[in-house]
Amino acid sequence: MKRDIQALIAEMTLEEKAGMCSGLDFWLLKGVERLGVPSIMVTDGPHGLRKQQGDTDHLGVFKSVSAVCFPSAASMASSWDRELIGKVGVALGEECQAENVAVLLGPGANIKRSPLCGRNFEYFSEDPYLSSEMATSHIQGVQSQGVGTSLKHFAVNNQEHRRMGVNAVVDERTLREIYLASFEGPVRNAQPWTVMSAYNKVNGTFASENKFLLTDMLKEEWGHEGFVVTDWGANNDRVDGLAAGQELEMPSSGGVGDRKIVEAVQSGKLSEGTLNRAVERILRIIFMSVDNKKPNATYDRDEHHRLARTVAGETMVLLKNEENLLPLAKGKKLAVIGPFAQKPRYQGGGSSHINPTQIDVPMDEIKKLAGGSASVVYAQGFHLDRDELDATLIEEAKQAAGEADAAVIFAGLPDRYESEGYDRKHLNMPSNQNQLIEAIAAVQSNVVIVLMNGSPIEMPWVGQVKSILEAYLGGQASGGAIADLLFGEVNPSGKLAETFPMKKSDNPSFLFFPGEGNRAEYREGIFVGYRYYDAKEVKPLFPFGHGLSYTTFEYSNLVIDHKAINDTESVNVQVTIQNTGSRAGKEIAQLYVRDVQSTLIRPVKELKGFAKVELQPGEKKTVTMTLDKRSFAYYNVDLKDWHVESGDFEILIGRSCEDIVLSDKLHVESTVTLKFKVDRNTLIIDLLNDPQRAPIVQGLLQKMQEGMGTMLEGLEASESLGEGTGEMFAEMMNYMPLRTLSMMSQGMFTEEMLNEIIHRLNHQ
Ligand code: BGC
Repeated sequence: MKRDIQALIAEMTLEEKAGMCSGLDFWLLKGVERLGVPSIMVTDGPHGLRKQQGDTDHLGVFKSVSAVCFPSAASMASSWDRELIGKVGVALGEECQAENVAVLLGPGANIKRSPLCGRNFEYFSEDPYLSSEMATSHIQGVQSQGVGTSLKHFAVNNQEHRRMGVNAVVDERTLREIYLASFEGPVRNAQPWTVMSAYNKVNGTFASENKFLLTDMLKEEWGHEGFVVTDWGANNDRVDGLAAGQELEMPSSGGVGDRKIVEAVQSGKLSEGTLNRAVERILRIIFMSVDNKKPNATYDRDEHHRLARTVAGETMVLLKNEENLLPLAKGKKLAVIGPFAQKPRYQGGGSSHINPTQIDVPMDEIKKLAGGSASVVYAQGFHLDRDELDATLIEEAKQAAGEADAAVIFAGLPDRYESEGYDRKHLNMPSNQNQLIEAIAAVQSNVVIVLMNGSPIEMPWVGQVKSILEAYLGGQASGGAIADLLFGEVNPSGKLAETFPMKKSDNPSFLFFPGEGNRAEYREGIFVGYRYYDAKEVKPLFPFGHGLSYTTFEYSNLVIDHKAINDTESVNVQVTIQNTGSRAGKEIAQLYVRDVQSTLIRPVKELKGFAKVELQPGEKKTVTMTLDKRSFAYYNVDLKDWHVESGDFEILIGRSCEDIVLSDKLHVESTVTLKFKVDRNTLIIDLLNDPQRAPIVQGLLQKMQEGMGTMLEGLEASESLGEGTGEMFAEMMNYMPLRTLSMMSQGMFTEEMLNEIIHRLNHQ
């Protein structure tokens, strides 16, 4: 419906306008009844609906209406499946419509800087491209249903420790290439109705009042059209926030923030125009929600549960499978061990905590699929609420395992180990679980470990078990999905969206995480996740992109459609994948780009494309991935723009970031020439590397060499210095500043000549 929002704003009093900029209560925005502006509801997210009707909180303590709990973001990202994430988004949108929720508070696009971050289960990846693609699909799905999203937590909210006070200190290039890139894609490509500013400070200024983030980046550079909402309680200075581009404060400030805005406008500290623009953005979203409201909407809970099961099956990652122990044969004797088999851990703690519509119990689902003649016995094995070993439980479990054909141990992290609000201190599983696994492995050679955890753990027993299935926090249907995968009803196709390190200290942020007091310096820079393990040649436990299948795939025919492009052009990369095994399955082809030679510090390679394909036995499919300037570029802080260094780039196709199967090269030519100002201290090498300036400097050096010829010949002849002295001399000269030419030439090259040459070089 067409509305004149400007006219509406003109009719509002100053108080009404200020009032629009903060919540009515915990979840509702204010409306203005006399002008027909309704109050809309926003609610958590991201992988289900947490709509509270009674007591309210932002830590997931009080109850919410029941809703389908889909796999958490860490799981969803392991599907690497844009379409599937989009379908989850659609389902979430339907549930929001049915519950009269206008905006779902998610997805979270923060980068997994450290596996210790307590909230990693709510985030997609350590890689900005993968994270950005997943967030984009999630948003597009939800918003296709006429429901908004809130892309969060903008930005650099990579730890829970001191999250409301910590200052994330990040250099500009790292900020752009890693931490902001994860938000940039979804903002540009999916236009989330709202963006949620983070609790923390970024380079000294609270994210909620950070003009660089909220206005310069988000609104101006990326073109965000919606509004920015504070994380719950993140508002620091209401007026500074509004001026920086923070439109909505949540939850209600009880009128405090509104009064401050009114006073600031009256005193002239804040222009009324700024307030009007904020109100305009908020009104636009309110009316978008009104116009897209589907009256009497309902959704099919069973269908959404089935979707949750399908999605969970696509997200779980088969980390190890020796001797093809999995899939389990039907009709066998199985020992199922561990309390998670009866009471699965399928979601994380905090504001994303969903009250599920139903829960699949793994033990029940296993029994359903184990086959008529199978015997499935359960043993608890360990306590979840404490870490101490219980010898009786271990003995019982050993007995059951010893008598079975195989043991399936459900292990992982208890709720108390990871949650919103605090970080982990280590990557250990509780010691009673590690001990149980070792005890079972001693009596049973066919051990399968099913892991329920939101982020990586150390696995001291990795060599003692044949199979490991990483089930992550797979939502309310994860029990069913696990059974599907264990018995081969579904072929595993998930791949890790994060590196599993051997040990905590291998992680790149280890030395600097979580910082000193309120200061967290991101000193590892761009070397986050596999970018670091690759470059440092540190072997991870399981690499980024890793995941096994019950079938096998072969890659062939890598074709790059142009072997030389300039940086304004794009290029298509094709690769053929064939299922060479005997079961249908899905494979995720990963495309990494490597700058063959660079004057910059760059990762060995970076993910710039991926495609998931489903293949019947023997079937072949060709996938196409498109690369553009950003696929080859780094962020140039002098240029304040993305820049490609001209040269060759390798296209690497991999099953994981470690398992590269095909590669080829192309040349990319930059259309931007980097210009730098020459002065007395410019090094000769930098001038020689500049194609336009090199001839002038070469001419100059030539002349000097001629003038110094006899001296050099003398040096060459001298026995003590030996042959090649001329080359050594030239090499040393390269790294001299221009000002030393005068000294080197013993006065032949005067100060006046130096100034003249600098002038020429700058006006070239
Ligand atoms: C969380 C947000 C959440 C909000 C509302 C905050 O504590 O950081 O992710 O959306 O609460 O519950």
